[in-house]
Amino acid sequence: MRIETRAVHAGRRVDPATHAVNTPLYLTSTFERDADGRYPLGFGYAREEHPNRAMLEECLASLEGGTDALAFSSGQAAATAIVQGLEPGDHVIAPEDVYYCWKKIFAEIFPKWTFAVDYADMTDPAAVAAAVRPSTRVIWVETPSNPLLRITPLAEIAAIGRKANAITICDSTFATPVLQRPLDRGIDMVVHSTTKYIGGHSDVVGGILITRHQNYLFERARKSQRFGGMIPSAFDCWLTMRGISTLPWRMRAHCANGMQVARFLESHPKVEIVHYPGLESHPGHAAAREQMDAFGGMMSFQIRGCQDKAMGVAARVRVFTRATSLGGPHSFIEHRASIEGPKTKTPPNLLRMSIGLEHPEDLIADLDQALESV
Ligand SMILES: *Cc1c(COP(=O)(O)O)cnc(C)c1O
Repeated sequence: MRIETRAVHAGRRVDPATHAVNTPLYLTSTFERDADGRYPLGFGYAREEHPNRAMLEECLASLEGGTDALAFSSGQAAATAIVQGLEPGDHVIAPEDVYYCWKKIFAEIFPKWTFAVDYADMTDPAAVAAAVRPSTRVIWVETPSNPLLRITPLAEIAAIGRKANAITICDSTFATPVLQRPLDRGIDMVVHSTTKYIGGHSDVVGGILITRHQNYLFERARKSQRFGGMIPSAFDCWLTMRGISTLPWRMRAHCANGMQVARFLESHPKVEIVHYPGLESHPGHAAAREQMDAFGGMMSFQIRGCQDKAMGVAARVRVFTRATSLGGPHSFIEHRASIEGPKTKTPPNLLRMSIGLEHPEDLIADLDQALESV
């Protein structure tokens, strides 16, 4: 079945007790045992397994084309669970422009485990192959990347991982399973911050890890989730499922709006460059065409001039909201360099935008008036 149909049906069943069509929210921490001591439905204690979480995991495994999934309390909890499965001395290759909190996991939580981490240009498979060592266990990719929307060729990185006997993991948050399916290209596991498009309404924080096949890092992440307690609440799972039903149709609108806004900015005299993989001028355009069905709602642009000009545009918008995060109905604009801190490589004149579900002409008019006045 197609993804629109699976988004509505996968993981969902009419409630056997009441025939409620929509999934009930099971607010319980524990489940009754049979007289002979068994748990007949497999649910014993809510940290270890819970029906709302099981449904979310089944649904997202289906959308991503995986065999199993683990839901976490955030995207970062999913990443932390993977790192907890590594051994001291293991080597990891990650993108030089990886999500900025990801670096903090290694630098600020696990320095005592003496992992070796190399940050490589993932758009260049030769650079990734050159970074491989005998101790390489994980190759982490993020595509499209943040905030320059760089595109990593997934099939080529998957091949490097297979040869190196390393597990390849793709953070596919910007693309969602609607626009890109890394597992079909040989990547071993996918993570999403479900906080973003998958939840889709800026009302819940969550993460998911989906695997194509059984492997030791997935099983260790399951232990961190269940015994380490990195679990989402039942209500978080329920809200995320509610968001998923409309994901494929929301993505169509994000993509259409994104393309229109990118074209407008590309032709604006005050804009130096637009980073959107849907534009022919984007260096990752051909790779994006090859591995994505459409180009999404995330973009960034650099204004002619300095940081003050960029901050000035962000200060003057009226329809866009100045906020971090992405993937919700509201369009967001954000000056990234100032939240990423002094060590960031993000250009100071760059603004990142999550194009929401408003009318594209209202978004364009808003940017037009903001650009006019700086
Ligand atoms: C937001 C985000 C994360 C982190 O997810 P949280 O749910 O905030 O923990 C990781 N990767 C990308 C690409 C993100 O946008």
